[in-house]
Amino acid sequence: MNLDKCIGCHTCSVTCKQTWTNRAGMEYVWFNNVETRPGQGYPRTYEDQERWKGGWTRKSNGRLALRSGSRLKNLATIFASPTLPGIDDYYEPWTYDYRTLTDAPLQEHTPVARPKSLISGRDMAIRWSANWDDNLAGAPELANDDPVLRKVSDKVKLEFEQSFMFYLPRICEHCLNPSCAAACPAGAIYKRNEDGIVLVDQDRCRGWRKCVTACPYKKIYFNHRTGKAEKCTFCYPRIEVGMPTVCAETCVGRLRYLGLVFYDMDAVLPAASVEDEHELLDAQRHLILDPEDPEVIRSAEKEGIPHDWIEAARRSPVHSLINEYRVALPLHPEYRTMPMVWYIPPLSPVVDAVSETGEDAENRNNLFAASESLRIPVEYLAELFTAGDTGPVNDSLQRLAAMRSYMRDINLGRETDEEIPRSVGMDGESIHRMYRLLALAKYEDRYVIPPAHAEQAHSLEAFAAGCSLDTEGGPGMGGPGAGGSSRGGPVTGGKVSLPTPRVRRPEDGE
Ligand code: SF4
Ligand code: SF4
Repeated sequence: MNLDKCIGCHTCSVTCKQTWTNRAGMEYVWFNNVETRPGQGYPRTYEDQERWKGGWTRKSNGRLALRSGSRLKNLATIFASPTLPGIDDYYEPWTYDYRTLTDAPLQEHTPVARPKSLISGRDMAIRWSANWDDNLAGAPELANDDPVLRKVSDKVKLEFEQSFMFYLPRICEHCLNPSCAAACPAGAIYKRNEDGIVLVDQDRCRGWRKCVTACPYKKIYFNHRTGKAEKCTFCYPRIEVGMPTVCAETCVGRLRYLGLVFYDMDAVLPAASVEDEHELLDAQRHLILDPEDPEVIRSAEKEGIPHDWIEAARRSPVHSLINEYRVALPLHPEYRTMPMVWYIPPLSPVVDAVSETGEDAENRNNLFAASESLRIPVEYLAELFTAGDTGPVNDSLQRLAAMRSYMRDINLGRETDEEIPRSVGMDGESIHRMYRLLALAKYEDRYVIPPAHAEQAHSLEAFAAGCSLDTEGGPGMGGPGAGGSSRGGPVTGGKVSLPTPRVRRPEDGE
């Protein structure tokens, strides 16, 4: 997701809701939501893991443990899940009593459509919503509770209101090391081996909500009508036929890119366990294999990955943005779930800061100097994307700034300055390609999604995976759960994830 292009229109959220959560029990649920940053997010303060206990921590012996407690502890306490956001942390969903507007008898005053709770049906006072602090509304009072803002320096805290805001669209991260799956005592959550989509098996879910606590992004929701957990499905029925997710398809800013990457499943556990939080970003980048590497291609062919999938991996815009241009960063790598929605940080706050000084905001030197010296918003972005390390955020912003300066010369018909790409470790041609991808890319370049190969479905039965770390020496996620045996056998670890779907379809039942 290219954050510079998000205009906060919420089209993605609404189209997702109309497609997936427009039904009873899910009124408060937004599989896709768009937050204003700085802000508290949805549910409120979800990033405060001291409070919500999401994700993994690294123990002194180097092993990972769920912050919310081991699988055994979760099993022993299945009837009590005290660390859950309450309805006030999400919001009480409501509608309006529109009938009154048309049916009220003639009277002196204009009738009023009162808000009615969608849960109790009673009149209610609206105090909060999934989007309450939109566009910094109420920021002086509310943004102080932003857990990210609490971590940055006082200078940033005091000045952010005058300085910057941006939008952060969020969906489930479809993590490589999903803590939601690890915490489920029933083994109901699984990561599809063929495409990495994380799903909740509705038949197995017992509604214990351990997953809600364990997900640090709070992207699992409890359906209070069915008593089951639900989450973003990454629109798998669309993905299987080569179509983008609804949120991506309808995105007004055209800022979402979808593509497949090959990754080394055996390397997930070591990568998620590196000691220094600042090394998690590079560890995750290294997990993602180079689809041009002949050895990777050979290995993929050996695993039976169809040719069109290998070709799609080579054309993947996601791989390019992460590892070729190195401008995309994962959200909160310090949660150690290895999240797979990557973000290009917004350069616009830096551009705005330069413009306000009256200097040329497309001049590379001005932008470079600003991104280095501006603690706002760089510190804040670093807390979001790199566990507080400002280096990679600056590198990404400088590449974007270099692209801006270099392309201006081209667009104005001036001679290009090759020193500009060189200064950020690129060349003119790669800057040009990055520009095409970020500014001009057509539909088929933004979404490179090879259709599933249904003829291989049976072979996946042996590879059904609960989690990439469900291996010997992994943090104890294999084996039978309370609700029955775990899904499939242990992951024996192909070098690359396998294509072809094996999935419960809606027509198979609830
Ligand atoms: S972001 Fe998605 S895959 Fe990751 S832990 Fe949360 S629900 Fe699971
Ligand atoms: S539709 Fe696109 S531009 Fe609009 S809020 Fe969603 S991500 Fe941002």
